Amino acid sequence: MHHFPDASAVVRALSPDEPVILNRPHAAARAARFFAEKFPGKSLYAVKANPSPDLLMVLWEAGVTHYDVASIAEVRLVRSALPDAVLCFMHPVKSKSAIAEAYKAHGVRVFSLDSYEELAKIVEATTSETGAAAEDLSLCVRLRVSSEYSELSLASKFGIDLADAAPLLQATRQVADSLGICFHVGSQAMTPFAYVQAMERVRAAVVDASVTVDIVDVGGGFPSIYPGMEPPPLEDYFGAIHRAAESLPVSYSSELWCEPGRALCAEYSSLVVKVERGRGDELYINDGAYGALYDAAHVGWRFPVRCITPGRSEALAPFAFYGPTCDDADFMAGPFMLPDDMQPGDYIEVGMLGAYGAAMKTAFNGFGQARLFEVSDEPMASQYTGQRQDPRAKDNVVSLR
Ligand SMILES: *Cc1c(COP(=O)(O)O)cnc(C)c1O
Repeated sequence: MHHFPDASAVVRALSPDEPVILNRPHAAARAARFFAEKFPGKSLYAVKANPSPDLLMVLWEAGVTHYDVASIAEVRLVRSALPDAVLCFMHPVKSKSAIAEAYKAHGVRVFSLDSYEELAKIVEATTSETGAAAEDLSLCVRLRVSSEYSELSLASKFGIDLADAAPLLQATRQVADSLGICFHVGSQAMTPFAYVQAMERVRAAVVDASVTVDIVDVGGGFPSIYPGMEPPPLEDYFGAIHRAAESLPVSYSSELWCEPGRALCAEYSSLVVKVERGRGDELYINDGAYGALYDAAHVGWRFPVRCITPGRSEALAPFAFYGPTCDDADFMAGPFMLPDDMQPGDYIEVGMLGAYGAAMKTAFNGFGQARLFEVSDEPMASQYTGQRQDPRAKDNVVSLR
């Protein structure tokens, strides 16, 4: 892959007419090392956040050995990219054939579930042809928890209610070699208290069921930094999770797991787009809702932006973006702060697109292609450069460079 120092160098060299994705392997590796060194347990990378094989390799080399996969396609993908990785199939609703292939062909031993139906499917799909039940399963029961502290909810679709959890935990204990409890507080959890509150539910479930629990998996939700979303430092999350885990009534040898997606890859990618037309405070750009800016369009996510074209005004103004397809939904409200004299032909770099962004480009309306380059400059914001302050500690806001 071709290397450039930064987005300006890419634009000077290529004047690209198509959007270009810029990857920062050093930023993803730094995030992975941070989790490996500081999270008080094991970190599973949630592959759906960005399944790029290049990124998988970067994370593996930085010490991420476990991968949270959600579909048989992800199982196959990670298995072929990383033959020695430990795969954990953490989608609570799977087909029996997907479970069987994962278990028999790809060595998957960890599965999650939130219902008796799923438990029965797992047991059946992992029973041998001679009728012997699997004796090496790690089964994680997904508990429903609140998403109230997160920017994107994952609360309504999956997870068994606390009131119904005890009999499912007991039934799962009967067939599991290791029994786990997992949850997901929702993506971009803006306070560590989200995990503390979820851990209280885990405590109640364990006490209720009086089962021995071997794995407590606090899921994903670890935040990244975006305009208007300045979370506390990740150390605060790890500390709160560690304290809550220490006081759980689980066995001394139990393991603590987490499943970061966004936090491991948000800083990995940015995107260079070209302005095709200006109409007042609306800019028509060449990527959008069907490309890397899915979240910007569909959930109003604000990504950091900067103008790459030299010579524009210092004064910034708020802009909205239209994407390239012929669809009114291809609209990103922002506001995105850019020089007030933006012109057609100018280039914009959109940052922090490594999670649920660069990897989501579709070919709708023929606008799928994007070239990829590596750059060596810093992402537009970082959780991992050792400069984060707790935004609650002072009135000032940590600045986005
Ligand atoms: C999406 C997902 C994750 C990753 O969530 P982030 O908010 O990106 O950290 C982890 N675990 C499960 C089960 C998920 O569905």
